[in-house]
Parts: sequence; C-alpha cells; structure tokens
Amino acid sequence: MSTEVDVVVVGLGPGGESVATELAEAGLEVVGIDKHLVGGECPYYACIPTKMMLRGADALAEGRRIPALAGTSAVTSDWTPVAARIADEATDHWNDQVAVDRLQDAGVTFVRGAGRLDGARTVVVGDQTFTARRGVVLNTGTAPAVPPIDGLAGTPYWTNRDAARLTEVPGSLIVVGGGPVGAELAQAFSRFGVQVTVVEAAPRILGPEEPEASKLIGDVFGREGLQVLADVTISEITYADGHFSVALDDQTLTADKLLVSAGRRPNLADLGLDTVGLDPESKSLDTDERLRVADGLWAVGDITGEGAYTHMSMYQAAIVVRDILDQDGPWADYRAVPRVTFTDPEVGSVGMSEKQARDAGLSIRVGVTDLATSARGWIHQEGNDGFIKLIEDADRGVLVGACVAGPAGGEILSALVVAVHGEVPTAKLASMIYAYPTFHRAIEEAVKALGA
Ligand SMILES: Cc1cc2nc3c(=O)[nH]c(=O)nc-3n(C[C@H](O)[C@H](O)[C@H](O)COP(=O)(O)OP(=O)(O)OC[C@H]3O[C@@H](n4cnc5c(N)ncnc54)[C@H](O)[C@@H]3O)c2cc1C
Repeated sequence: MSTEVDVVVVGLGPGGESVATELAEAGLEVVGIDKHLVGGECPYYACIPTKMMLRGADALAEGRRIPALAGTSAVTSDWTPVAARIADEATDHWNDQVAVDRLQDAGVTFVRGAGRLDGARTVVVGDQTFTARRGVVLNTGTAPAVPPIDGLAGTPYWTNRDAARLTEVPGSLIVVGGGPVGAELAQAFSRFGVQVTVVEAAPRILGPEEPEASKLIGDVFGREGLQVLADVTISEITYADGHFSVALDDQTLTADKLLVSAGRRPNLADLGLDTVGLDPESKSLDTDERLRVADGLWAVGDITGEGAYTHMSMYQAAIVVRDILDQDGPWADYRAVPRVTFTDPEVGSVGMSEKQARDAGLSIRVGVTDLATSARGWIHQEGNDGFIKLIEDADRGVLVGACVAGPAGGEILSALVVAVHGEVPTAKLASMIYAYPTFHRAIEEAVKALGA
C-alpha cells in the first residue's frame, strides 16, 4: 500500500528542512524523511560546533595578544566551556526534538528512517511507501571521505563528528587533509594547547583558494607552532599503545589522535538512483537552473556539487520551493558563490579564482593589496595579516572573483560579493567612498592596483 502525498523530501539537511517546512506552510501535503538528525550535518557536527570551537580559540589568541597592546595577560585554555556550549546550546546533546517539533508544527509528516527511491515519484522508507504527486526532493548531503591509506581503516581515527563531541583535547593531533575543515580544526585545537601537525597530499593547504591565501595561512600556522607538511604521501597509518603513527616518505609522525578531514563523499549510493535511471556511483547529481534532476525529481545541497555550503543548500531550497509552487524565478546563478574558511585570519572568497578566470579564457586584470599596511591593519597590529585580491574581467570592466584574507575577512568579503553578483563596474568601485579607517577601505587600494 502506498500513501499518496504532494512532495516527499529525502534527507533533512538545512535545504531539505527548509523545503519541507515552506511547502507544508504553503498548504502542500509533505513527508520529510531523515535517517539521523533533522537539520543535518551543519548544526550538530559541522558549521556551528566548529565555529563555537573557533570562537573560543580566537578569544585565547586575543588574550595572548594583550602584552603587545594593552598590558599583561596569563591565558590558560580549558575546553570545558566549548564542549558545554556545543552539547547544551548548539546540539541539545545531539537531540533534534526541537527541530522535529518545528517541522511537525509546520504541517510536515516526519518519518525517521533511510529513504530510498523506488521508481519515479516513489520513496520507500522502512515498511512505508510514499508516492509524490508533485515530486521528490533529495537533500541527503555528504559523509567524511576516508582515503584508502594502508592501515587507516583499522584505526580509531576521528572525523568531524568525533571532534564535535570532544569533551577534552588530546596532547597531540595529526590532521590528515588541509582543506577548510582541516585548517579550521587544526588552528582551533592548536590554540587550546594541542601539538598539531597538518598533513596535506596536495602541493599546498587550502588548495582551491588563491596561492597567496595558502601561503598566508601556512605562515601564520608556522608562527603559532603548528607543523604543516604539504605535498607529502602517507604510505601507512598504524595505531598501537594509544598512539597513531603516520609513515611519510622520509619520516614517521606520531600523535595521540588523528583526524581525517580529507573531503566528503556524497550520500548517493544507497538512494535507489538506478530505479529512476541515474547512476548510483555518481559524485553529484546534475541539476538544471531550477534544481531539477529529472521530471518530478529535485536535488539540493552538497549532492548537487555546486558548493558544499549551508548557504548553498538554503539558496537552492528557496528555488525548489518557487518551482514546486509554480512561482517565477530567479533561478540558480552560481557566478557569485561566497565561501569562508574561518581560520584567523579568515579567508573569504567569491566567484572565480585567478586561475579559474585564466583557464576560462578571460582577459583579466588582478589587483592585490596588503591588509597589514592599510591604515586599519597598521592600527590593529597584532593579528593583522591579510590581503585583498581582485580578479577583473578586463573586457567587461567588472569583477569576476575576489579573495579577502584578514581579520573578519568573511565580513569584508560581503562588499565584493555584491560587486561580483551585481556586476558593479570597477570604475564605480573606484569612485565610491570607503569609510576610514575600516578594513574594507583597502578594497579601494585593491581596485587601484588592478592591472598595476
Ligand atoms: C566540519 C565542517 C564544517 C563546516 N562548516 C561550514 C561553514 O562554516 N559554513 C558552511 O556554509 N558550510 C560548512 N560546512 C558544510 C555544511 O555542513 C554543509 O554544506 C551543509 O550541512 C549542507 O549540507 P546538505 O544540505 O547537503 O545536507 P546535510 O547537512 O549533509 O544533511 C543531509 C541529511 O540527510 C540525511 N540522510 C542522508 N541519507 C539519507 C537517506 N537515505 N534517507 C534519509 N535521510 C538521509 C542525513 O541524516 C542528514 O540529516 C561544514 C562541513 C563540515 C564537515
């Protein structure tokens, strides 16, 4: 027996939860299915817990900057308040009852379980089958990718999920993978006194970001006592007597704990994609500008491969809602996708990198300015490392990308997101007024430096 409804949402990450809620509030009959926690990775294991860790870590760093700026300080770190905030405030001890209640109050029928497609517009969960008159929305997200390194699978390695549940920090930690997640967690733990080594297979950490950003974060990490080993190959990982050993070509690292932050793999393999003619082995689902994968099938979030960010999942969710409710666009436009790595300094980027713009065949001009020597950077002094880099499509006279590294880099970025999204002519950016002495005033210098 199949129950007929309007829409079935499989996976209730930030986007799926939003789609289900808004469609139910608009009067549709909606079933929302999640096998774990409503709200997905972001509130329980990802964005929010890691930013709480970094808030604590940054407070410690500021405390340690007092002697250079304002007197004396004696900083002693304690993970207890961080663990308490994550457990009590962020995750309700990894209990989603509040989110489930919110969903049901909006009128969504919630089913806890693993959903699976069983042909067009049909989803099976446990012993229930739902048929969707309008269609099915997939928002199943990603899981940590565990690289096929000899020995790793048999060790008690951590992923972001273990890090989020931590009640005390270890003495030493090896972080395998220096992308945004690895970099953020490495700096957070280091500032709490953990001896941290980051091991990265690619030539540099934060690989997709501008090379200047990788160098800056590498330099800051070095000054703070983190070891960064890039362009290295791990031949084996073992665990014995409470210690991890990581064998590299020319040395063996040891530590109490090991965190794997080597990317994510999509939760697509067990979704029954083959029953609707799609490849269950795909790394992402191809979507059109309305996030449609096929007739009556939409996808949002990490599984679309358009950027694994909560803001992307929410942006796409709003588009799916408009499409299902037969409303007008705007539809998906990925020219100005912002992303922030919340290290200190933060690294915020939007649109294309210099390399992407060159690879796309654009005739570009690049402008870079140092944030530390701007008026505000000079005043700020301790912790003032940073830069602003702009990439202009010279033929059109508009920015197609930007990178801001520095104190509050993700906030400074907002002006440049507007510029890229709105295709504001660089001539206009050169003729506007920037408040003195803000960090964002350095945008004016970066604009002047275009083509210099
Ligand atoms: C450590 C870390 C830090 C991050 N920090 C940030 C940040 O600061 N800012 C940012 O924008 N992004 C951040 N991200 C990325 C962000 O967490 C994700 O992009 C975000 O959660 C959106 O994911 P999603 O909507 O695809 O679904 P997810 O959040 O992954 O949720 C998917 C849901 O689907 C469920 N599910 C999976 N398969 C099934 C199935 N078959 N049936 C039923 N349910 C299923 C899961 O249980 C889960 O609840 C971070 C990620 C990590 C790992």
